[in-house]
Amino acid sequence: MENADIALLLVLVVLLPVFFAMGWFAARIDMKTVLKQAKTVPTGFYSGLDALVDKNTGKAARNLAEVIDQQRGNSQATYDLHLILGKLYRQCGENDKAIAMHKALLESPDTVGEKRERVLYELGLNFKSAGLVDRAEQLFNGLKSGNMAKEANQVLLSIYEQDRDWQQAVDTAQSLSHDEQTYQFEISQFYCEMAQAALFRNSFDEARQYVQAALAANKKCTRANMILGDLEQKQGNAEAAIAAYTAIEKQNHAYLGMVGEKLYDAYQSLGREREGLDVLIGYAKTFPHLDLNGVIYEKSLLLHGEVAANQIIGELVRAKPDLNGVYRLLGVQISGMSPERKADADMIRGVVDRQIQKSVMYRCRYCHFKSKVFFWHCPACNKWETFTPNKIEV
Ligand SMILES: [Zn+2]
Repeated sequence: MENADIALLLVLVVLLPVFFAMGWFAARIDMKTVLKQAKTVPTGFYSGLDALVDKNTGKAARNLAEVIDQQRGNSQATYDLHLILGKLYRQCGENDKAIAMHKALLESPDTVGEKRERVLYELGLNFKSAGLVDRAEQLFNGLKSGNMAKEANQVLLSIYEQDRDWQQAVDTAQSLSHDEQTYQFEISQFYCEMAQAALFRNSFDEARQYVQAALAANKKCTRANMILGDLEQKQGNAEAAIAAYTAIEKQNHAYLGMVGEKLYDAYQSLGREREGLDVLIGYAKTFPHLDLNGVIYEKSLLLHGEVAANQIIGELVRAKPDLNGVYRLLGVQISGMSPERKADADMIRGVVDRQIQKSVMYRCRYCHFKSKVFFWHCPACNKWETFTPNKIEV
């Protein structure tokens, strides 16, 4: 054998495994199929994506509906696309289209097991979005024992909150509760809602039971102590009312401003109004961020006269000057001024007042929703106990 032939043979022997490997890959990756699949990603899919980026959900839904028509043979792709399209329809407010589509999907022989539960869940969301809350509730209740139990319970909880069905809300939150998320704030607030309603009806025993349940769920629930104080006061137990209101200091002192007037009234009903005022002044000095200056000034005026009231409020405002304080301070000083200075002080006070109206409010710490009125349940983000308990400059 010639040297050249030997070399050729050696090359062949060396390359043999490479040829085998190439054959192996060729058998598994049909490049033509890969290219074909790349080419068959429907253009409607891209234009739908583009419309979504532009926040044009209506156009995205139309494009996606066309893609679904083209993908009839591919049941998994059709299923996934239907779920996305359903969400898009809901966002556009086209709930009837979403309902019809998900109902049709349920009739498909491929929609079984987990897939079926998912479609039922989506259908429930369509009903809720369309205002058919009873039908939605029925569907979600049927999903409580399956794979979509957590999601279904979360929607049910929002339905019960919306309907103010607090007992159902408690039960649902308890079934959702686990180590990482205990729902203790929510559960105590639901009990407080029931306690408040019972108190309005003068069902004192019932109100007391709900307050105790609220405190058992969250012993730091200041609202429960506020209701307990109101309950005791209504039943003529002023001492117990004082105990309930003042216990808020240990729970979360930021909420003390909300009971200032009531605490004073409880002391007053025992003939100890001076002591009540001193307690409020003590709170204001210890916790300067509390909204207590208004009630302190009013009661000081009543008990000690104008000069003393002006002095008390002056001290408090100077310790923590803010817009409200400056407005009040100008108000108490204005009567002693000469007519020319009084006119200027009135103007300044007017400017400060306009600023207060615009920028001193309660604010949700979660979503930053601002309001002149305090809410335990934020109307914007539906979270509980997220409002600042004192008005702040926003
Ligand atoms: Zn909020």
